Amino acid sequence: MSEDLKNGLAGGGLEQEQAAELEQAVEQEQTEDQEQAAEPELTEEEKEAKRAEEIKQLRKLRIDNPNHFSFVKSVIAVVSGKGGVGKSLVTAMMSVLMKRKGYQVSIIDADFTGPSIPRMFGVKDKAIYNQFGIVPGKSESGIQMMSVNMILDNETDPVLWRGSVMNSALKQFWTEVVWRDVDFMFVDMPPGTGDVPLTVFQVLPIAGIIVVASPQELVSMVVSKAVKMAEIMDIPVIGIVENMSYLDCPDCGKQIKLFGESHIDEISSQYQLSTLGKIPIDTKLAALCDSGEIEKFEGNWLDKAAEVISKVWDFEKSPPLGQ
Ligand code: ADP
Repeated sequence: MSEDLKNGLAGGGLEQEQAAELEQAVEQEQTEDQEQAAEPELTEEEKEAKRAEEIKQLRKLRIDNPNHFSFVKSVIAVVSGKGGVGKSLVTAMMSVLMKRKGYQVSIIDADFTGPSIPRMFGVKDKAIYNQFGIVPGKSESGIQMMSVNMILDNETDPVLWRGSVMNSALKQFWTEVVWRDVDFMFVDMPPGTGDVPLTVFQVLPIAGIIVVASPQELVSMVVSKAVKMAEIMDIPVIGIVENMSYLDCPDCGKQIKLFGESHIDEISSQYQLSTLGKIPIDTKLAALCDSGEIEKFEGNWLDKAAEVISKVWDFEKSPPLGQ
């Protein structure tokens, strides 16, 4: 088990009780591994569907209460079929857009093996424990965030935790972090539809899903798998974002379809989902991510997505918490 988790967060430390809980989770996983070995062979897809069904039932029974001082209106998960398609970028851009609209926003970086949210926002704070709970990091514009990066001594340390330890840490991100007055919490999910991303749905009260895919992935099974999992768990899919859709030629301005024709509209109509936006490959975006200045991005590619989200979760009747 990670020494970081055991030793606790900067400025504080995990209580003995919590450390014992983590140990227990590891033991439980070992027992489950043994039990699984005795189960009849299922295909990967069947296993995932079975797990999604279990999660649906578990979600009905109980999702842990957030920290006593937290108030979160809506939790939205950003998912993708694999890493590197721009899921974190879309999470960051959506958060920035909603913040610009006047909502209070927070992010849980649940992509434990590739945590990149604090880096994109230039947040270098470590999480601190005070008498109310864990204090999340804050970006320049006031977006609250929590990531495993914020509890590691060294950001570049690889996270080699077992699934159960990741779950315990994720649970703490929900139950112990003080998420003050949040209209929208975005969750940067672990990639894929396997056990790790599925369990995030068990821990967090996710109300809707945004699917991010590249043009190539849109023609693969990625979207249908994500939609199927969401259906089984009874969680609505808000829509699809196509990232790396095209490239604007810097010389002639012509759109170059680097990964072939866009498929987002046909896929959206096939699954009756909204097309939330198409993001081009843009060197400025990549540079802003690298310099921790994503809050400065300019571009209207996701404006429709921000509009859809504010309408779906109609806050007209209950104004944003910050106002
Ligand atoms: P994921 O979360 O799916 O693993 P990221 O959002 O971390 O992917 O993106 C991976 C890398 O690709 C990042 O360095 C990001 O800056 C870059 N990137 C993603 N989308 C774009 C884009 N549309 N234009 C330029 N760079 C991009």
